[in-house]
Amino acid sequence: IQVAQANHTGNMGDTIPPMGAMPYNWTLPVAERVKALVSVPVATVGRVVSVEAGEKILEDGAADIIAYGRSLMCDPDIALKAATGEPIRECLNCNKGCVDAIQNRKYISCVLNAENGDEATIAIKPGEGDKKIAVVGGGIAGLEAARVAAKRGYDVTVYEASDHLGGQIVLAAAPPRKDEIMRSVEYYEKILPGLGVKVELNHAATAEDLNAADAAIVAVGAHDVVIPVPGADSDKVVSSWDVLAGKVELAGRVAVIGGGLVGTETAEYLLQHGCEVAIVEMLDKIAAGESETILPLIMSDFAEHNVEQHVKTRLTAITDEGVEAVRTTEDGAEEPVKIACDYVVMAVGSKANAFDLDGVTVPVTCVGDCSGERTADIASAIRTAYHAANEL
Ligand code: SF4
Repeated sequence: IQVAQANHTGNMGDTIPPMGAMPYNWTLPVAERVKALVSVPVATVGRVVSVEAGEKILEDGAADIIAYGRSLMCDPDIALKAATGEPIRECLNCNKGCVDAIQNRKYISCVLNAENGDEATIAIKPGEGDKKIAVVGGGIAGLEAARVAAKRGYDVTVYEASDHLGGQIVLAAAPPRKDEIMRSVEYYEKILPGLGVKVELNHAATAEDLNAADAAIVAVGAHDVVIPVPGADSDKVVSSWDVLAGKVELAGRVAVIGGGLVGTETAEYLLQHGCEVAIVEMLDKIAAGESETILPLIMSDFAEHNVEQHVKTRLTAITDEGVEAVRTTEDGAEEPVKIACDYVVMAVGSKANAFDLDGVTVPVTCVGDCSGERTADIASAIRTAYHAANEL
């Protein structure tokens, strides 16, 4: 008997909960009760993310079989790797590439696994001789490029200008319920040393570093942008990235400009830190593009904290009192809006970083956010990196 909960009539978040929505092993208490009543083996499923967590359940005698669902899309070689000790790429429970795709009738493919769904045609190719590869940037794209290049047998060095790996993933992990996304970075921290990848932190790569290799992959990410309205240079304007990185601490009333994914998650972060929040969004919907399994959690958080949601509203100026904007009404007219606030947080998107290639003589491929693909998209970062490293 497999004990699970399934509700295929409504939001699949009830059946396959996203990270932070339900505890780990969330259906196990029911499996245990069933197991106490029957003599046949009982399986449990649901946010048993790691092999270690599964082993513990078996050792405790709480269930007889562990069923892995999403985990097998993220890493289909769990069983082989558990036997050999190779680090396993653990599912984030983000629901982006799997559950969202099911709900939207799209192609299912795990955001972290570039091969998933295309295993018959996409695989890491053997390397072509001995090559040295320089990877510039230790964000998720750079780390995936390093993994694939090293798996091909190449000698890989990752140069990261900051003192830590992860890039924007570290920011993405800051909002409530999101810390599990760090599993993506921890995987590379576990696997890269065993593949012989050298990681140089606090090292901004130079042309000499790149020229010492046979080829380079540049994954220098993106930077956040500001809307150039009057008052945008005011001291009360801060970047959502600085907020999420803990570089600035805000208090009081905050207007978040931009109600996309970063804006809504920054708003939740600010609520958690005691701020009053208003969101200003040009589109007619807050958190467009957010997983349908996560959206209800965000909206209930916003309702509980009385978050003002100004949709179809365009920022026009930042003043001493707050922000000025223009709202488009149902009949297409425009009306002025004033929102009093102590701080204005810009969460209006990001732009690819440029890397100075002056003096670089080896072939260079850009991957991830700096490649001009979609910025702040983990699936795109992984896939551009995987394919570039597989072609070296
Ligand atoms: S898309 Fe996210 S939730 Fe789905 S299998 Fe991949 S890591 Fe897990």
